Amino acid sequence: GVTISGLRKSYGSNEVLKDISLSVNPGEVVCLIGPSGSGKSTLLRCVNLLEQPNGGTIDVGGYDVTDPDLDIDEMRRHVGMVFQQFNLFPHLTVLENCTVAQLKVLKRSKDEAQRVAQQNLTKVGLGEFADRYPDQLSGGQQQRVAIARALSMDPQLMLFDEPTSALDPETVGEVLAIMRNLAKDGMTMLVVTHEMAFARDVADRVVFMDGGVVVEEGPAAQVIGDPQTPRMQDFLKRVL
Ligand code: ATP
Ligand code: MG
Repeated sequence: GVTISGLRKSYGSNEVLKDISLSVNPGEVVCLIGPSGSGKSTLLRCVNLLEQPNGGTIDVGGYDVTDPDLDIDEMRRHVGMVFQQFNLFPHLTVLENCTVAQLKVLKRSKDEAQRVAQQNLTKVGLGEFADRYPDQLSGGQQQRVAIARALSMDPQLMLFDEPTSALDPETVGEVLAIMRNLAKDGMTMLVVTHEMAFARDVADRVVFMDGGVVVEEGPAAQVIGDPQTPRMQDFLKRVL
């Protein structure tokens, strides 16, 4: 799981995260929602130290992310991240995309890495696509490869930053379906998304951020179905 406490992050004089606290318990799915610029991506990036927090503490599966002596690579091996842009290696096949980090970071044998990759490609419905190159796949298929690649590292936690925002509408559903299956399998997930139906159906809890603070938080049915603050009500009006 993840426990974030009193997190602060500024860019120059722009304080983007102002005393954020939230947790994702093991096996839980938390959806992070909020308007553009509210700090969602920055928060996610602080969790695996793609951004350096200015204050507060973050515990990721027992690793104190804000400890200056932290072994960052060791911590990151347990955290999978999927972005809006798929960031696949264009010159590598689908299978190779899913084995590189296993070979380099986990020092797995080629056989083992390929076995794990193939297993995860099958899980995302792309078992037959192992020998293709990324540009031979649709956006939705590429994003599913990105998910299989992250899963091949056996992460304890998956971070998703608007994984369907760059997709054609007709391929959004296939990616959300994979994420639903992951949730059902008990994966711990922190998901930034604008997909309210997904948040309502899949999230154990929803956290609504605006202006760098958590404005509302609670069970999905409550936050989305019965929002308490004007800011959340206004946000929902615009996205639903
Ligand atoms: P969106 O929904 O558009 O993705 P977001 O909630 O993810 O928005 P962030 O990307 O976290 O928002 O940005 C929050 C604020 O931090 C914005 O004002 C943004 O301009 C600023 N910001 C983000 N990254 C940087 C950076 N590297 N340098 C300076 N300012 C940044
Ligand atoms: Mg963002």
